[in-house]
Amino acid sequence: MSKGILMVVSGPSGAGKSTVVQELVAQTEGTYLSISVTTRSPRPFEKQGEHYYFVSESEFRSMIEGGELLEYAEYAGNFYGTPAVEVDKMLSEGKDVILEIDIQGGLQVKERRPDVVLAFLIPPTVEELESRLRLRGSESEMTIRKRLEIAEREYKNVSQYDYVVVNDNVEDAAARLQAILVAERCSAKRVNPKDIKKC
Ligand code: 5GP
Repeated sequence: MSKGILMVVSGPSGAGKSTVVQELVAQTEGTYLSISVTTRSPRPFEKQGEHYYFVSESEFRSMIEGGELLEYAEYAGNFYGTPAVEVDKMLSEGKDVILEIDIQGGLQVKERRPDVVLAFLIPPTVEELESRLRLRGSESEMTIRKRLEIAEREYKNVSQYDYVVVNDNVEDAAARLQAILVAERCSAKRVNPKDIKKC
């Protein structure tokens, strides 16, 4: 079986990444959304092992030391990382694996796995970003400000990514990410002769 595609979706907090990525995975057969580990506390609706694996800082450190993480980063005072085992298992089964991670993590993955596809999801305007963060209602004013500052820094690195997708509405943004996956599957650099009929 051919190996799946590894795709990173990054973008500022509040860009609607999670919703778009969930729509992408729901609409695209053969995709798998990686579940990250984090030291952040769960939001009220978040479930252990579904949205994240919520762990203590010492558990997180022992995962780093054990080489269990494909990448990790500190974001707004908490640690986040991608467990490597599940990602590799899914890729070897031919699934396309989606990582919804920040830009620091995306660039680390690029170093380790140069064939990764990096996509950056942005809201139509900065004002939209701020109002989406406030609407979510789960963060304090200080956290919102911190997240907006990070967003500004992230925009500066966007040229290191392969694709930009504007999240004007969930369905269209998910469809564009799907189109990127389809195009990448047919990239002459990676297409498998067995799968060529799909191109
Ligand atoms: P949140 O706290 O809003 O769930 O996530 C904050 C940021 O961390 C988001 O940009 C999200 O994409 C990113 N993130 C989530 N999981 C990971 C991960 O495993 N690694 C990295 N580097 N960033 C992550």
